[in-house]
Amino acid sequence: MMAFCPDCWSGIENNPATCRKCGARIDIYSHEFEQRLVSLLPHSHAERRAEICLVLGQREKRSAVPHLVEVLADPEPLVRVAALRALSQIGDRSAVPAIQKVAERDNSAIRSFAKQVLSTLGAHASKQRPVTRA
Ligand SMILES: [Zn+2]
Repeated sequence: MMAFCPDCWSGIENNPATCRKCGARIDIYSHEFEQRLVSLLPHSHAERRAEICLVLGQREKRSAVPHLVEVLADPEPLVRVAALRALSQIGDRSAVPAIQKVAERDNSAIRSFAKQVLSTLGAHASKQRPVTRA
């Protein structure tokens, strides 16, 4: 699946496409599609929020970066991982400071993924050494 219909969440295999379930016209690279996805980002289901991030990543458009940066504060780890993956795919360095925060403060699995994303973006985790307890 390359994307989904933002009206009925059916999978979309081609682009542009007409949704087989509800007939919506979809062009994942259009500004309208991005706006619709972004408007759905506060969705109550974490899986949906994660899917939205992944589709925004596949489009590889920088206009989605500020929205994905906001999602880095999502309460669900799976959504934060999806946002990191999308930011890595888009490859815009304006996301680096926000990803550095994740690399410092998130849980250990997400911290190490964030560091990986930073190196993909040609950046490094913050120079500050982690606080070690004696
Ligand atoms: Zn549809």
